[in-house]
Amino acid sequence: VIRCRAAVAWAVGKPLSVEEVEVAPPKSGEVRIKIVATGICRTDDHVIKGSIASVDFPVIPGHEGAGIVESVGEGVTSVKPGDKVIPLCLPNCGECTFCLNPEANYCLKCHFSEPQNLLPDKTSRFTCKGKQIHHFMWVSTFAEYTVIPEYAVAKIDPAAPLDKVCLLGCGFSTGYGAAVNTAKVKPGSTCAVFGLGGVGLSVVMGCKVAGASRIIAIDINKDKFAKAKQLGATDCINPQDFKKPIQEVVTEMTGHGVDYSFEVIGRVDTMTAALASCNMNTGVCVMVGVAASDAVISIDPLLLLTGRTWKGSLLGGSKARDFIPKLVSSYLEKKFNSDLLITHTLPIANVNEGFELLRAGK
Ligand code: NAD
Ligand code: ZN
Ligand code: ZN
Repeated sequence: VIRCRAAVAWAVGKPLSVEEVEVAPPKSGEVRIKIVATGICRTDDHVIKGSIASVDFPVIPGHEGAGIVESVGEGVTSVKPGDKVIPLCLPNCGECTFCLNPEANYCLKCHFSEPQNLLPDKTSRFTCKGKQIHHFMWVSTFAEYTVIPEYAVAKIDPAAPLDKVCLLGCGFSTGYGAAVNTAKVKPGSTCAVFGLGGVGLSVVMGCKVAGASRIIAIDINKDKFAKAKQLGATDCINPQDFKKPIQEVVTEMTGHGVDYSFEVIGRVDTMTAALASCNMNTGVCVMVGVAASDAVISIDPLLLLTGRTWKGSLLGGSKARDFIPKLVSSYLEKKFNSDLLITHTLPIANVNEGFELLRAGK
């Protein structure tokens, strides 16, 4: 058993509490990882606020990390102690019908199919003050050590700087992959990105690398525009500056709407606006933002009848266990600069300050 620090969410709506926790050794098929760095994704904030109904408390959140394998359980063959890894919040069991389908990335062992509040054997490896603490999406990267099933771990290039590539554990891969894998943005095309947080800015980077000629970046926080421009946005607009709905603005700017639109906020109104912003014939709208568990969308069916395509994308829309190590290699080859997404670096003791910065749009 390893004693170390972790940020525990004891109850819905309470700040995280940095505690000493006990982390049990990995059982058969599991890997214990020393987490070196983790990002904060808005999804962690959804967890703390209680808007993801499937999460059980108390829980150790965090799902955008990178670390080093400390020990492995019986039967683990794909990683060994000392390997650099990225935990996968969307596993690839390699055996389910979707893992066997080359076009799918949604594994049936993922948290949308079965709860991941406990490890597959229905027990937790975390305790604190005599209480069992739940895992989050099996990864729980807000702990200095965490235990994860082998098929939710991606081995990465040993040269990778973990304090930088941790972003590839969720935000960067999600946004970049939504553009290159899910939308398959074509050279010369037009794109609109709703929401310029870490994930939306990564969509901008993906559109740019794919060769989009115009990238319209949309946010109600104009402080996000300078970074969006630096990463490849050609136009930045704030819906609050217009009297008419933002979909009409985007449609007018582009003639008939963009080729690809992305919702990267998690609100039903902006999801509908993003759909209406892509052109009625061949437009593709990709939903990336996570809405509250009870959210429902109503749309005019004509939006789809005319030919638009509406799809969702999880963790970059490609099998993460292959995709993320390839992205790490591309990072090392300087194909993109995800370091530009890093705004602040804090020790784990200041994790709540990190959430304050996120909520303040900083
Ligand atoms: P973030 O909070 O950093 O960014 C959201 C941005 O949207 C902010 O810049 C905010 O100012 C802007 N915004 C808010 N309301 C707006 C409005 N009405 N119009 C325009 N802009 C608005 O969040 P993030 O970490 O970048 O995550 C974005 C979303 O993606 C979240 O919902 C998160 O849960 C989700 N997410 C999904 C996946 C996936 O696999 N699909 C993975 C990671 C995150
Ligand atoms: Zn995330
Ligand atoms: Zn699977």
